[in-house]
Amino acid sequence: MTHRFFLEQPPRDGRAVLAGPEAHHLAHVLRAKPGDAALLFDGSGREYAAKVVRVVRDRAELEIVSEAIVDRECPLTMTLGVALPKGDRQRWLLEKLVELGVARLVPLETERGVAQPTGHALARLRRAVIEASKQCGRNKLMEIRPAAAWSDFVGQARMDKTEEGQPIMRWVAHPGGTQLKEAMRSWPESMPEGAWLAVGPEGGFTGEEMGAAGRAGWQCVDLGPRILRIETAALFLAAAAIVAGQCRE
Ligand code: SAM
Repeated sequence: MTHRFFLEQPPRDGRAVLAGPEAHHLAHVLRAKPGDAALLFDGSGREYAAKVVRVVRDRAELEIVSEAIVDRECPLTMTLGVALPKGDRQRWLLEKLVELGVARLVPLETERGVAQPTGHALARLRRAVIEASKQCGRNKLMEIRPAAAWSDFVGQARMDKTEEGQPIMRWVAHPGGTQLKEAMRSWPESMPEGAWLAVGPEGGFTGEEMGAAGRAGWQCVDLGPRILRIETAALFLAAAAIVAGQCRE
């Protein structure tokens, strides 16, 4: 198996440079030598077949052998707002969302939520996105947007249709909402351009927050009789949106 590495800068003149943790992985974990093959991606959707030219401490130079756009994105562009859980659970959640193909993650500021990641914590989460993309073969990075207040987030998704007239789905997970099976059945006939999804904090959304979502046109979706942790609910909701979309293709 050829190992994958993330390039912070796209290749120039047929050459690419790995630095920091990526160079460490190549040089010290895999002990790569000149001539060894590697696969590179820079988050643009391109994938590069490359050969190691030189390894010096925490820097590696590679020659690009070929390049291609390799699309492993989900056909449904998902924007997921989550009142993130604490600690290691954040990293675990991000890894799985990358694997499922979520395009954008927005940490949500909600009334009952805990503080959202900033600074170093956000940088660590971005690193988790890169690691997960290396592993699952995604060539575009899941974007981590700045934290957003709940009212702003639901308002941003207010438009019913894109400029091209495609419908946009908006599902907020909340116990007591429309049964998931029903919500999946009401998915539009034509494949929606995108889906906006939301999952609340451990203490749940308040009545006021659900009211704001309803006024902005969000559908409240019940995920079954058991109360799920944030991570489980987020993965379940995203997977259901993917399946609902695919059943209409
Ligand atoms: N006591 C909280 C409540 O009743 O909303 C439970 C919060 S749950 C741990 C965290 C989030 O996951 C919820 O805000 C909701 O978005 C989602 N969630 C968990 N279980 C759910 C279910 N059965 N149906 C719909 N959403 C669920």
